[in-house]
Amino acid sequence: MATGKERVAIVLATGNRDKVRELRPMLEGISPVLEVLSLADLGLSPGIDETEPTLEGNARLKADEAYRLVEGRFDRFIALADDTGLEVDALGGAPGVRSARYAPAPEGATPSYEENVAHLLRSMAGVDSRTARFRTVIVMKGRLAMPVDETVDGRIEGSITTARRGERGFGYDPVFLPEGSARTFAEMAVDEKNAVSHRGRAVSAASIRIRELLEQSGFPTNP
Ligand code: IMP
Repeated sequence: MATGKERVAIVLATGNRDKVRELRPMLEGISPVLEVLSLADLGLSPGIDETEPTLEGNARLKADEAYRLVEGRFDRFIALADDTGLEVDALGGAPGVRSARYAPAPEGATPSYEENVAHLLRSMAGVDSRTARFRTVIVMKGRLAMPVDETVDGRIEGSITTARRGERGFGYDPVFLPEGSARTFAEMAVDEKNAVSHRGRAVSAASIRIRELLEQSGFPTNP
C-alpha cells in the first residue's frame, strides 16, 4: 500500500513533444502523486523499429522497451505507449499499421502526409464503399502495488472523402469524415476533434484504468 510520500511516474514512450504536451495535463489531473515524463526527459532514446503487423503489437513493443529502460529508476511507474492507424474497409484494413509509411518512398525515407493522402485517394479511385476508422491502441506496462499490464483502445468510425477538405489537423485529417459529421477532421477545431477522436477516446479509457489501478494500490486520486 502507498506510504503517502510515494510518487508514481508515467513514462511516455514517445519522442513526439506535441503528444507529451497534450497528455501531461490530462494524466497529471488524475492524481497528485502522478508525474508524467517522456523518455527524452530522462535522457533516453528508445530507437524501436515498429516491426509488428498490428497496432497492438507495435504499442506493446514500445511499452516493453520503455519498461525495460526505466524499471531500475522508479519503484512505482507505468510505461505508456500508443500506436495509431487508419483502417479502410475496402482496402482490407490498410493503411493500418503502415499509416505513416503508406505511399511509396525511397529506402529509409518517410513519405509526407500529402504523399500518403494522395496515395490513399489514388488507391480508392472509383471505390464506392468508403467506410473507415481511426484506431489508437495504448499499452501500459508497469509496477504499482501489483504488476500493471493493460491494453485499451479508442476508435472513431467514418468514411474517406473523394477529395481533400480543410486546412487543420495533420495526417489523413483532410480526407476523414467522422460518422454523422458534415465536416472532415481537418475542418474541425482541435478541441472539437479531440472530443471525439480515436486518440481522445483511447486516452480517456487509459485515464479511467490508471485511476482504478492507483486506487487499488492505495494512492489518492483527484475528484
Ligand atoms: P502514430 O502511431 O500516432 O505515430 O500515427 C501513425 C500515422 O497515422 C501518422 O503518421 C498519421 O499519418 C496517421 N494519424 C495518426 N493519428 C492521426 C489523426 O488524428 N489524424 C490523421 N492522421 C493520423
